[in-house]
Amino acid sequence: MTNEKSDKKKKVNEDEIASPKGMRDIFGKEYYAYQGFFEKAAEVATYYGFRPIETPVLEREPVFTSSLGVGTDIRDKEMYTLKTKGGDHLVMRPEGTAAIMRAYIEHGMQAQPQPVMFYNYGPYFRHENPQRGRLREFRQFGLEILGTPKSIADALIIRTMTLVLEEAGFKNLSVEINSIGDKTCRGSYMRALVGFYKKHTSSLCSDCHERLKTNPLRLLDCKNPKCQELKAEAPTSIASLCNECRHHFKEVIEYLEAMEISYRINNNLVRGLDYYTRTVFEVIDATPTLLENGEPAAPIALGGGGRYDYLAKALGSKKEVPAVGCAIGVDRVIMSPAHKPLDPRILKKPKVYFIQLGSEAKLKSFTIIETLRKAHVPIAQSLSKDGLAQQLAIAERSGAPYTIIFGQKEALDDTVIARNMETRSQETVKLADLPDFVKHLKDELR
Ligand code: AMP
Repeated sequence: MTNEKSDKKKKVNEDEIASPKGMRDIFGKEYYAYQGFFEKAAEVATYYGFRPIETPVLEREPVFTSSLGVGTDIRDKEMYTLKTKGGDHLVMRPEGTAAIMRAYIEHGMQAQPQPVMFYNYGPYFRHENPQRGRLREFRQFGLEILGTPKSIADALIIRTMTLVLEEAGFKNLSVEINSIGDKTCRGSYMRALVGFYKKHTSSLCSDCHERLKTNPLRLLDCKNPKCQELKAEAPTSIASLCNECRHHFKEVIEYLEAMEISYRINNNLVRGLDYYTRTVFEVIDATPTLLENGEPAAPIALGGGGRYDYLAKALGSKKEVPAVGCAIGVDRVIMSPAHKPLDPRILKKPKVYFIQLGSEAKLKSFTIIETLRKAHVPIAQSLSKDGLAQQLAIAERSGAPYTIIFGQKEALDDTVIARNMETRSQETVKLADLPDFVKHLKDELR
């Protein structure tokens, strides 16, 4: 009785254990779509000279608090922060760049030939309001080039990113680009921007009042319609660029033109985070899309990035490490109607349907499957059905060109029956000859 009572206490209802808001399970076709995308992205990145890196999902809090900047939503509102039993303050990474720069500094990669080029893939966490294209756990594919101020690195990041997206089926990409200058010219731009907005405080939303005090660049990020109008008249960062920044931006644009990448200079693009310098960009899917209610959907950013020449110092490095990078939002890619799913390498159509009948055969069946695996012949099988007719019917539906039948008699004789599903001809193969038979089968099915 007592046990029953405590069991009852333990019972939870399904709502209580449902996946957290904005986080989801990925399986079946969708899983393969993610995997296929990642494999293709990694392949393209590898051809362009990027190497893989994986950093922890949790980082110490200062990795993000010292780098993202006060007044940014990610840092101030969206970080999942936790205190461990040992008293450490850790953050579930909201973005990848700061963590990769942390790794670069920690492992003394400045001593390696520069630049160091990385690609990475994984989940990121932001406590945002889930909506179209916005999750709380989302996946990014990122590219980073660390240790060079050269404009060709900016162009290479944009080129690799658009290529990855083109491989995933996007035919209508548009690169929005801007330059927000460096420490030489940012000051005069900020003065111009603050001066302009101070003249219009009465038309600002309450968030923008705050931004004006803490992070004026973010005034240009505001989505409030009232502030949008004002944005159109605000001074542009390009008008304030110093000679070096102007030259750098001109070179990036020239590279884009030479590579025939379509771009649009967007004076309002600032990408809020403190660590960006000079080039900032976003890649938009410009395919016209309708919402469920039939209204046209706003174009969605598939990814974005920029140059971050002062991030290393913000993370405690003695030396500056000029760098540039980007991140593609993989969930947005997969969910887009323009996406063309790519088959992952592991997804192989079963070439053989394997039928085992009876307990003796079941025991020995693992050896046969292993022989097939070593010969790279993927199988399908039904573990819960015991009848031959039933299993043959499933084999027929599976579309596998061959069926291998392993019954009680075959288990005793150490043989299998191989059945060609098209011609329905059958032959008996000795287990000892199976590897050779499978080799021929593979050639035949190639
Ligand atoms: P960011 O790190 O903010 O520059 O974002 C880079 C890309 O990641 C965006 O362009 C989106 O495609 C994707 N992304 C950012 N935040 C989310 C989110 N909350 N849910 C889904 N995708 C996101």
